[in-house]
Amino acid sequence: MTTPCVRAPVVEGEATRAALAERDLLDGDREIDVEDGEIFVPVVDGEAARAAGYEVVERETDRRKGHTTPADLLGFEPSYERLGEVVILDEEDPERAREIADAIVESDLPCGTVLDRASKVAGEYRVREWDVLSGESTETVHREYGHEFALDVAEVYFSPRLATERHRVVEQVEAGERVVDMFAGVGPFAVPMAARGAEVVACDVNPAAIEYLRENAERNGVADRVTALEGDVRETTAEYDGWADRIVMNLPHSADEFLDTAVRLAGDDCVIHLYDMAHEDDPFGPSERAVRAAATPAGYEVEVLTRREVRSYAPHELNVCLDVRIRRI
Ligand code: SAM
Repeated sequence: MTTPCVRAPVVEGEATRAALAERDLLDGDREIDVEDGEIFVPVVDGEAARAAGYEVVERETDRRKGHTTPADLLGFEPSYERLGEVVILDEEDPERAREIADAIVESDLPCGTVLDRASKVAGEYRVREWDVLSGESTETVHREYGHEFALDVAEVYFSPRLATERHRVVEQVEAGERVVDMFAGVGPFAVPMAARGAEVVACDVNPAAIEYLRENAERNGVADRVTALEGDVRETTAEYDGWADRIVMNLPHSADEFLDTAVRLAGDDCVIHLYDMAHEDDPFGPSERAVRAAATPAGYEVEVLTRREVRSYAPHELNVCLDVRIRRI
């Protein structure tokens, strides 16, 4: 089987393996290989490893001997996500969920808690309910593209599925930029943007999210460049009118209601990353029209930079992102 591997000189082998493990990128299910003075370390996310500065190649790898995976015990490949040592299932059938949870606990997968989704993401804080199948704590520390995020999945929103999308946006940020993250959660946009040298104002109405956001800014050494504002972004940001070079609006379903605030916060030349849920027949039209309706009367011209389908959300419904530049005429 071909999997992504980090290639490094053998003399740097152990340091490379340890650094990849530290970033949660090591693929513990595959064997490390050595050939012609080079080591090949299997990784779970080749793109993330490349973004962290490693050389990544596709290579035949063997299943790691003596390492029991949940699939070895179940006889089928279960689907799960990992947030640090919290393992997340999305199973309809409670018996199947129980069987998978037991196999995960018995396997060699690092795991403190197994949770099954018990509701959709809901409410103002965009949090879901969970069935706890094993362990107790819903708090964890998750690593994404080299940054650490402490969070409690029972108290705050966080989706590891959006890692690649967040990275796409973060990579556009340049040192010295002024960013407003209007719906910041625990900081997965705000923290890496500050790490690239931006000055970030990060807002959230959920007090628990703001507490974790402040902790995560500290953890990642960027507290001096992140200002966390707790409360409704429409009310907490009055002193930042006309301030932002870039605005992140990751509150799909209702971001439209906040476009007037975004335009108020925008400087003379500002990029807005607007997330939305839209029908596949016209994925970008509604967002584009909403931005124009908010920005044009305020004296801005609107240029769409990117139209991106982030993921499928429901049948015929897409999670999309529109990157737009608004410039004062
Ligand atoms: N950007 C984060 C991420 O990628 O993980 C969080 C996104 S989550 C979909 C939306 C966040 O917006 C939630 O943390 C919620 O508490 C926050 N929120 C909802 N309404 C808000 C408001 N009026 N003002 C500020 N934050 C709000």
